[in-house]
Parts: sequence; structure tokens; C-alpha cells
Amino acid sequence: MARTPIVVGNWKLHKTIAEGLALVTELKNQLAAVREVEIGVAPVAVALQPIAKRLEGTAIRVAGQDCHWEERGAWTGAIAPTLLADAGATMAIVGHSERRQHFGETDERVGAKVGAALAAGLTPILCVGETEAERDAGATFRRIETQLEGGLAAVGGDALLKLVLAYEPVWAIGTGRTATPAQAQEVHAHIRSWLRARYGETADRLRIQYGGSVKPSNAEELMRQEDIDGALVGGASLEAADFVSIVKSTRSARIRPGA
Ligand code: PEP
Repeated sequence: MARTPIVVGNWKLHKTIAEGLALVTELKNQLAAVREVEIGVAPVAVALQPIAKRLEGTAIRVAGQDCHWEERGAWTGAIAPTLLADAGATMAIVGHSERRQHFGETDERVGAKVGAALAAGLTPILCVGETEAERDAGATFRRIETQLEGGLAAVGGDALLKLVLAYEPVWAIGTGRTATPAQAQEVHAHIRSWLRARYGETADRLRIQYGGSVKPSNAEELMRQEDIDGALVGGASLEAADFVSIVKSTRSARIRPGA
């Protein structure tokens, strides 16, 4: 099943507006010829609009790092998905493990955010992944299934392909520890078979990214795995050369001659 791979850089709380503009200017110059991989960046919220403007006319998409589940109201500090769209974003990362861990996001809230992002016409990137303790306890699949249940609560069969999923083992995020290609593939295949039971063959068309210390040295082998359809990249997305290398490795791993 041919799925267009998607690589998104999650800048987290890094880069001033000027630094972000400099980075995307390099990306747009160096990645202009890459047509086979969908590419996105998720800058800090205040940089979304200038960065989206700088990327106008290119294929590089802009993502919010989070969004709220309500469109307006007394929610100090929150950003509605409609406002992300207003600023030029077309995607929103939802349920990142740092949001779950440090901001107390529950599966139910994550599901509400996915629904709100879809309603605003954004592509949610729904993140799931187990902690080290859950993996050690043999609870990886169970945890991910619970996160999928909650995160996809509002997603009917017709909407599934409006989403991207990201499998991000918490123990591999920002730690330098990467899941081995076999470990990652095992979970990706499990996610796809869980989705197939619920959504049928549509699940074969859904893109599932891997995230967790993806870097130029490991990207190609990860992207060669059958059910890995791109990457959500944190640290290595902050340097143009590293991010460009990951995108190009994804292209060479996923686009097979004659395919
Ligand atoms: C992430 O933040 O989604 C991530 C995968 O980070 P890193 O690549 O730094 O592990």
C-alpha cells in the first residue's frame, strides 16, 4: 500500500521568530525539489503566522504544537484550532507526551482536541506511546490501545484519513535512545491491525509516523519499515542540515525504484 510519507519537525520551546524564519528559509531552499515526502514544521505559537507567510507558495506545511478543544471562551492562555488555521497552520500536534506528562492531558481531553482540530479543518497529528515502565511491565499495546480509544473517540470511518498518527515511545523522546527499527515496526503493525479491526481497510491508508530521537544516522533504517510512514522529529529538526537529511533519507527509504 503506497502511503505518502510525512516528516514534521516539532520545534517545542525553541527558536525566536527570527531564528525560525532563518530555519524555514533554509528548508524551503534545500527541500524545494522534494515532492515525494510531505513536510511540516511546528514552531512556537507566536511564530506561526510569520513562518506560514514565509512558506507561502511552498509545499511545506505549518503545524501548531497543541490546540484547545473549545473555539472561544474563558480559557486563559489557550489557542483554538480555528486560530491556528487563521494564523496559517494546516495541522496540529495533539496529545504529545510532554503535554500528557507536564500539562495533565487525559485521553478524553486529547480526543476532544482531535475533534476540535478536525472541525477547524486541520490535520491532527495524534501522538501515542508508552512509558518505559509500561514497556517493562509488558503493557505497551494495552496503553496504546487506550490512547487510541480516547484520541479517536470522535473520529468516524470517514474522518480517519484526515488524521496522521505518531507512535512516540516516551522513553525515546529527547533521550537519544531510539526504538530499534524492529521494536518500532512491531508497534506500528499492532496499531494498524487495531485500526483495521475498527475501521476496516481504510486503516491501510492511514499514515503512522515514528518519533523518538530520529536523527540522520538512524532515519533511513527506521523509514524502511513496512508500517512506518514518516517521522515526527524533535531535536534534530532544529538544524536545517539534520532535518533535510532526515527528509531525504525518508524519500530514499520509502520511494522504491519502479514503485
Ligand atoms: C518529539 O518531540 O516529538 C520527539 C520525537 O523529540 P526527539 O526527536 O527530540 O526525541
